Amino acid sequence: MADVAEAVVAGGRSRILLLSDFDGTLCEFRNDPESVQLAEPRRAALSTLARRPALCVGIVSGRRAADIRGRAALDGPVYYAGLHGMEILGPDGGFTVGQLAAYRGRLQELRASLAAAVRHLDGVFLEDKDLSVALHVRAAAPVDRARAEETFWALVSPALRAGRARVQRGHCVFELLPDIAWNKGNAVHWIEGNATRRLGAPMRTVYLGDDRTDEHAFEAVGDRGVTVIVGRAPSAAAHRLPDPAAVEQLLDRLVSLTADR
Ligand SMILES: [Mg+2]
Repeated sequence: MADVAEAVVAGGRSRILLLSDFDGTLCEFRNDPESVQLAEPRRAALSTLARRPALCVGIVSGRRAADIRGRAALDGPVYYAGLHGMEILGPDGGFTVGQLAAYRGRLQELRASLAAAVRHLDGVFLEDKDLSVALHVRAAAPVDRARAEETFWALVSPALRAGRARVQRGHCVFELLPDIAWNKGNAVHWIEGNATRRLGAPMRTVYLGDDRTDEHAFEAVGDRGVTVIVGRAPSAAAHRLPDPAAVEQLLDRLVSLTADR
């Protein structure tokens, strides 16, 4: 953790854009995603960092942007990017990827079919994010998990072939999204541009994430900044932390190291 903290502040006096994924990175996973909340010490540390003039903070998640904003409830100017970056709420205005709403009808039809098809499977949970549909299998036994996967692919394949949806896989989750080529990496670039215009100075980007969706962001940051994978997944990130508790330690360390900034 100390190495990562040193790497973050190694850019001397340049501003830091600190971006992080939410579930599995800032928060431990729970079987029910609705029950996940940002622990108070982490909220306090991120809020302190967000209020520092030399820092800019954002959360980039697969959840809806408004959901993340409500759950994190940070004080200070913060970016909340939702739907894997397709919608962004910023300190002074936001962004939504074009044509997003046009996919709602078809996604909702698929959601209804999927809901009926997996209803009898224990531990399988279908999350409706209005513009995306996530099938969670974390709490399912292997046999139900396999059935859920099989059902999922059988039901969504025609829509995938027709370009009406795409699938983003994550930890124990299969998510149907609008078939728009925009990912967390694009969101990182958008936030970098917006924050630079807003604050009028180049920044050093730091990105923390735990899942394959975060690899897009790691690629976007590359060696211009600091990339941190949380957990044990293979990753292109330059640094690794074991779990969200270690992320909390990192945030605390950064609060100390940037006290005069
Ligand atoms: Mg995550």
